Amino acid sequence: MLALRLLNVVAPAYFLCIALVTLVLQLFLFLPRMREDPTAARLFSPALLHGALFLFLSTNALGNYVLVIQNSPDDLDACQGAEARRALCPPPSTHFCRVCARVTLRHDHHCFFTGNCIGSRNMRNFILFCLYTSLACLYSMVAGVAYISAVLSISFAHPLAFLTLLPTSISQFFSGAVLGSEMFVILMLYLWFAIGLACAGFCCHQLLLILRGQTRHQVRKGVAVRPRPWRKNLQEVFGKRWLLGLLVPMFNVGSESCKQRDK
Ligand SMILES: [Zn+2]
Repeated sequence: MLALRLLNVVAPAYFLCIALVTLVLQLFLFLPRMREDPTAARLFSPALLHGALFLFLSTNALGNYVLVIQNSPDDLDACQGAEARRALCPPPSTHFCRVCARVTLRHDHHCFFTGNCIGSRNMRNFILFCLYTSLACLYSMVAGVAYISAVLSISFAHPLAFLTLLPTSISQFFSGAVLGSEMFVILMLYLWFAIGLACAGFCCHQLLLILRGQTRHQVRKGVAVRPRPWRKNLQEVFGKRWLLGLLVPMFNVGSESCKQRDK
């Protein structure tokens, strides 16, 4: 239990460190490099477009991160929680999270990166957090590849160039041909790639469960799937105005969970 509690503190700190490092690299390395491009048009320069896109992705990722923590699932009070835990047939989807030390309704899983339980109230924000983190990481990787390609004059036209970049640069780093800052960016490229793929995979898996009307907790417990159309299941989490909610993290999209919360 101590290890889980420690992980619950270390994982959010790790996420925030990666976010801060990404922001610093974008602001102080990638953007200035793009502004040096002499072929850039004045009105829509690559630096301006890159800055706007990165700002949009990172605002959505961090905005949804905050909302996941703010909208933690409904928890039962101490008395109700003790009753639910003692009951022979506890309410469906009720779960006692050992890390948060509370009984939550409509529980899905505990997320260590947000240090919070994920349930129906914050599921939409959690999926959008995964989606935008994945996009921000993969986009940072592309910007980083462009930066490394420009400063080290490396071509990434060959499909295996990205895989051979690390071993080649390590040997060049020890021979003095690659600077410490460039080596750091190269290591970050692999980290962004890994986080981007992991978040995309997790997002797809979670979406599949939503379409089936299941939570991860129910899958673990072997609870049968509710016989409902997939559109209804999707609407329950994302609401009718799902497209607006997809673009603006703070917007209440009128999902079932939001309606329940507003009552
Ligand atoms: Zn929890």
